Amino acid sequence: MSSNSENSIASTQSVSRWGRGLPSKCHCGLDVVIYTSSSAKNPGRPYFRCPTRLDDHLFKWVEDGTYEVVVDSWPKLAGFDSELSAAKSEVSVELEALQAMVKELKEEVMRSERENQKWKLMIKLCCFCLAFIIIVIVFGILMFPKINEQRLFLGY
Ligand SMILES: [Zn+2]
Repeated sequence: MSSNSENSIASTQSVSRWGRGLPSKCHCGLDVVIYTSSSAKNPGRPYFRCPTRLDDHLFKWVEDGTYEVVVDSWPKLAGFDSELSAAKSEVSVELEALQAMVKELKEEVMRSERENQKWKLMIKLCCFCLAFIIIVIVFGILMFPKINEQRLFLGY
């Protein structure tokens, strides 16, 4: 294809005739090839082209297709942005609920530990009292015969 025909096709057909976005096939069924322009007007500019290079077959500037992809993606990106914002607020609400739950659980653990310490102290006190009572009883049993002996010795 000469650079003149490339320019004339580009100006009239590139954007609208071949559909939006990046083409993959020509209407003839052949896979599209990317070439680089060597014309004086568009040196080094890449374009999609049907390998037949016939005038009524696909021609599209790569930058036009890329621009269309970006423009077509824009509403989707805006949708993603609002979805992301909604997800963020949902996550922050759930995070607050989880933080409140963690705080409640920590308080419950501290309450349980305090209760546990109180019971341990009570058990120690009971053990001490029980030991004291046992010592008093044993001491009483051991001393009781001596008291009786003293009564007999003194005669009353
Ligand atoms: Zn073709």
